Amino acid sequence: MSLLTRTRSAELAERAREITPGGVHSNVRLAGPSVFFERGEGAWLYDEDGNDYIDYLLGQGPIFLGHAPRQVTDAVAREMRRGSVFAGQHTLENRAGELFLESVDWAEKVRFGVTGTETDQAALRLARAATGRTRFVRFAGTYHGWLDNVLITTVDGVPRPASAGQLSRHLDDSYVLPYNDTAALETLLDQDDDIAAVIVEPVLCNSGAILPVEGYLHRLRELCDQHGVVLIFDEVITGFRLALGGAAEYFGVTPDLAVYGKAMAGGWPVSALAGSATLMDLFADGVTHAGTFNSSVPACAAVVSTLTLLREDPPYGRVHAHGTKLMDSIRELAVQHDLPLRVQGLPVAFHVSFGSPGSILDHAGLASFDLDRYAAFSHTLADHGIWVAPRGIWYVSAAHGDVELSATLERLDAALSVEA
Ligand code: PLP
Repeated sequence: MSLLTRTRSAELAERAREITPGGVHSNVRLAGPSVFFERGEGAWLYDEDGNDYIDYLLGQGPIFLGHAPRQVTDAVAREMRRGSVFAGQHTLENRAGELFLESVDWAEKVRFGVTGTETDQAALRLARAATGRTRFVRFAGTYHGWLDNVLITTVDGVPRPASAGQLSRHLDDSYVLPYNDTAALETLLDQDDDIAAVIVEPVLCNSGAILPVEGYLHRLRELCDQHGVVLIFDEVITGFRLALGGAAEYFGVTPDLAVYGKAMAGGWPVSALAGSATLMDLFADGVTHAGTFNSSVPACAAVVSTLTLLREDPPYGRVHAHGTKLMDSIRELAVQHDLPLRVQGLPVAFHVSFGSPGSILDHAGLASFDLDRYAAFSHTLADHGIWVAPRGIWYVSAAHGDVELSATLERLDAALSVEA
């Protein structure tokens, strides 16, 4: 297959750099190749030069139903005609909430927001209010948004602010522990009785798609119960993707609070915080959570139509089967090309990188991956019509089928030939 040319994208990128810093509106996009997309359809993206790409980045996760799912786009367009925000209530928000609570069935109440970042903050605030305590525990390699108290980079095992201008003192209220290490958490909870919350990505999708070891999430639950700590699942990636009820359903562990986003609204910006009525009702009793665009008409229309689709024809079995075939095929191709590609994670969200075989258990294990080589390879993949994240995560959607699988393997084969 010949390499794609992107003359028009290059021109547009030049113009974009004059308009916005780095030419992009989210820093995460700085690492990717500069491609201007004209549209997305199903599992495919089409750029301004007429090239097509099989999409495994899926807008960083939200496109679980594929791009522009007809039922969702129709519902959003239809409902928006009667207005978008009323600064009051409307019936669709009840329907969206009902469908949400029927899907995430351990939760008693839900609040809608717009982004995962802000909703993680709402969860932490609620935990503090409920416990009267200050600090929280999180795990190395997780991502809980880009605000000062959660954005970290880990250098030689030590958490540091990840951005210039970030107030490092805001990190003083959190502890960063290794994931999959219950002993470290036990020791900390015995030592510090000012811990309000433990927040965790149930699967470390932001760090090598690392799975919890057997019993790990259950042990987190027990430890939080023993110490009166609020257990928060950050399900922004795993929610509605691993299963309808997210990681809580998939692993059979119930958190006190959980944060959702991405896959729950067919590509529309919606997040949610869910939990017990006792905790959630604090939002009506002194704890502030606000947002002009929370539960807007189009957002609720997107939630209602997405959850209706996911409930009426659950795609989870198909997506898992497809992802499993893809993971196995990537491994086989790597062997054929004699390249040390490592594939780890769940079929709906897995991590690919160069490195020695074997699973890693925590963020520190990522040191055994050649992340820079993979980041460069992700550009080679884009040149061959496969759109992936430079940091190694691959997402699979309900729109990926046999056609996409064989096209992917053909393109990957060509890209690996360049790499080998
Ligand atoms: N939490 C997790 C686990 C995420 O992966 C992300 C974003 O990728 C966020 C929170 C932040 O969500 P948003 O980008 O919608 O602010």
